[in-house]
Amino acid sequence: MNDNFRSGFVAVIGRPNVGKSTLVNTLIGRKVSIISPKPQTTRNQIKGIYTTPNEQIIFIDTPGIHKPRHELGKFMNRSALTTLTDVDLILYIVDGSLDYGTGEAYVIERLKKTAVPVILTVNKIDLIKNKNRLLENVIKYTAAYNFAAVYYVSALQGDNMDKLLGEVSARMEPGPKYYPGEEYSASPESFIIAEIIREKALLLTREEVPHSLAVATEEIKPAEDNPHLIDVRATIYVERSSQKKIIIGSGGQMLKEIGTLARREIVMLFGQKIFLDLWVKVETDWRNKTRELRRLGYFLEN
Ligand code: GDP
Ligand code: MG
Repeated sequence: MNDNFRSGFVAVIGRPNVGKSTLVNTLIGRKVSIISPKPQTTRNQIKGIYTTPNEQIIFIDTPGIHKPRHELGKFMNRSALTTLTDVDLILYIVDGSLDYGTGEAYVIERLKKTAVPVILTVNKIDLIKNKNRLLENVIKYTAAYNFAAVYYVSALQGDNMDKLLGEVSARMEPGPKYYPGEEYSASPESFIIAEIIREKALLLTREEVPHSLAVATEEIKPAEDNPHLIDVRATIYVERSSQKKIIIGSGGQMLKEIGTLARREIVMLFGQKIFLDLWVKVETDWRNKTRELRRLGYFLEN
């Protein structure tokens, strides 16, 4: 254990389309989230994990922060991420090309309920033509809230992103390496795919299977007989065999439906035909198993 290791959780918040996902992707240097010109593309909570030999920064890119059902505090040796108050830092992203408005005021009201330091990150400065106007807007932000710092960036073009990362990094405190470093570098897609499957499974089973459900993408590889088809193998983990029964459904109907919905969305997002091989496994009390948690690679949220 590296005694000097520092780590922390950073919530990336802001209104739709301001560039949250782009920013996280640029910060950690690879694609972790799905970017599109349409608002609210980021439907699930996606974590971008930045790991170096000395630090680990977990960026939570989400339209809303979900409340975890179960205590992962033991595993993580910290309080679970429940609300904005439980992260170490908040990056509040705004679109510098737009005027301060009621939507922003609403976000700021929420920020006032937390004691976590907030960095105002004014994005899309590449679009700015009228600097005075920008400054007038920023004065409104800073008058409304006492930000720990203000950064002007272009997530798309990378301007000032190193400075922002430096600031975030400097604010990390001694802590554990929550995720093994290699986990996501191999395939952020696997995480996104798992999230989509989990969403569909929850959607279709609703009350019957509470949230004691997790999904791990085991394998993504080109099909042997068809280079245009990708084979995806994923496992839905539940805690009890009664839940397994529900997920599978009578005659496998439920599992089939979960697979169909998930596959449709995955195909749409990645623009790639896939074959989805979906399994269900009972893993009793896996929430308390370090190894499983690591392999699944994310917290359990509603
Ligand atoms: P989110 O909804 O906040 O996650 O926003 P996205 O990251 O999905 O970005 C929304 C749109 O804004 C996309 O079309 C991005 O390419 C674009 N965008 C993000 N950052 C910048 C930026 O710095 N400059 C410009 N010009 N466009 C950006
Ligand atoms: Mg997004």
